[in-house]
Amino acid sequence: MDILYKSTRGNEKRLTASQAIIQGLSEDGGLFVPESVPSLDIDFDKLAQMSYQECAFFVMKKFFTDFTDEELKNCIDRAYDSKFDTKEIAPVVKTGDCYYLELFHGATIAFKDMALSILPHLLTTAMAKNNLDKKVVILTATSGDTGKAALAGFADVPGTNIIVFYPKGGVSRIQELQMVTQKGDNTKVVGVRGNFDDCQSNVKNIFNNADIKEMLGKRGYCFSSANSINIGRLIPQVAYYVYAYAKLMKDYGLCAGKKVNFVVPTGNFGNILACYIAKQMGLPVDKMICASNDNKVLFDFFKTGVYDRRREFILTSSPSMDILISSNLERLIYFISGENAEVTAQRMKDLSEKGVYEITDSEKAKLSDFVPAYASEADVKDTISKVFSKDHYVIDPHTAVAAFGAMQFMKDSTNPVVVVSTASPYKFTPAVMNAIDGKRDEEDVFALIHRLSNLSGVSIPNAVREIENADILHDCVADIADMESVVCDYLK
Ligand SMILES: *Cc1c(COP(=O)(O)O)cnc(C)c1O
Repeated sequence: MDILYKSTRGNEKRLTASQAIIQGLSEDGGLFVPESVPSLDIDFDKLAQMSYQECAFFVMKKFFTDFTDEELKNCIDRAYDSKFDTKEIAPVVKTGDCYYLELFHGATIAFKDMALSILPHLLTTAMAKNNLDKKVVILTATSGDTGKAALAGFADVPGTNIIVFYPKGGVSRIQELQMVTQKGDNTKVVGVRGNFDDCQSNVKNIFNNADIKEMLGKRGYCFSSANSINIGRLIPQVAYYVYAYAKLMKDYGLCAGKKVNFVVPTGNFGNILACYIAKQMGLPVDKMICASNDNKVLFDFFKTGVYDRRREFILTSSPSMDILISSNLERLIYFISGENAEVTAQRMKDLSEKGVYEITDSEKAKLSDFVPAYASEADVKDTISKVFSKDHYVIDPHTAVAAFGAMQFMKDSTNPVVVVSTASPYKFTPAVMNAIDGKRDEEDVFALIHRLSNLSGVSIPNAVREIENADILHDCVADIADMESVVCDYLK
């Protein structure tokens, strides 16, 4: 059966998967959702034997029905290859009383690699399928992590260029080094004399500038974004939940059909939404624990049914979850409203105009599979320290937010609990060392990294090793006002 995609804010148009991937966001501002969620429909013993690539193919084939088997396999083979430092791609590790699903073995040692390593291939395949022969230009503003993951994904992918703007002086030393040492003939990294908001609003302006669009169109280019709301990022994330279940069966003796809980450190709500979709497909998932840091908008939402972003933005040790507007939640709102586009559009309007909306009691009742949790900065530090001293396992602050939630939750559950581990501790070494070895803020970050390796016995990932001595390949620094001309000059 063909699966078509529709918008969460309008009922008319239907797109194929490849069209939805190219377009990213619907014209009415809504997000694309599949008209129906396909069922898993598989023999569990067969599932248990699948490799990551086979699992990804199995899941993606059900959603991206206008792609041929060969096209999908091609995308998967190019994405989940030796860029990952383990053949398993997403290993499941048992430590103490929980399981950890490690999603940080890709090029940038964090979970966004899981989707951003395949999106470029899905996008270029989709362009070819729809007879669009333009070169895709990805424009991204980054506060640190997404930019690098997008660069790594798009580097040297034929038919694409990627330009990343970051606030000069506004990202960590490791983050900046990761970006400015990026290889690939089609990559451009620009430090902007301004803050992240300046970068982001100018990227939006360039996107929406009709003159630039026309001029670049004549030169054979079109713009796209690698945004986390693209179904080309969301659906590949469903695969690792199915794979985790397969691993639990194969390696840890889980009985077919037994339910499993997942604890997900959440920001934009993309990762946990993929878990929800896996459950809709029929994967035996019990509870989905939505773990927030101090920016606990989602925790309050699941408790009260009120989404209220009118609050102070707090900088935490888990920066990738410092978010007050979780874009992907719109899809869940749409599903629980009975797929009511009008109601969804109104709520999103309220959110942007008033900063708040409320769902009904009957909708709230449909959220009973979600369990909210949150961890303060003290809880995070304490959890990193406890897991290390008790189990000799090192986790990063994002994962610690989830691990803390798991410890609270486990008291009342008999089913296995899987903590979704979203970043390597080597990506956030100062915070990790602070927790397990006392205050180390002053020390050079590479010195800390080596100490962490000595303490933990975990070898330093290649992604970190490489940048310590890599050549700086990008030294472009621009004023805010010059961002536009940087783009036009680069795309000569
Ligand atoms: C992006 C990110 C998250 C949050 O994931 P969402 O899909 O935005 O909820 C959590 N941890 C890390 C390390 C991330 O990079």
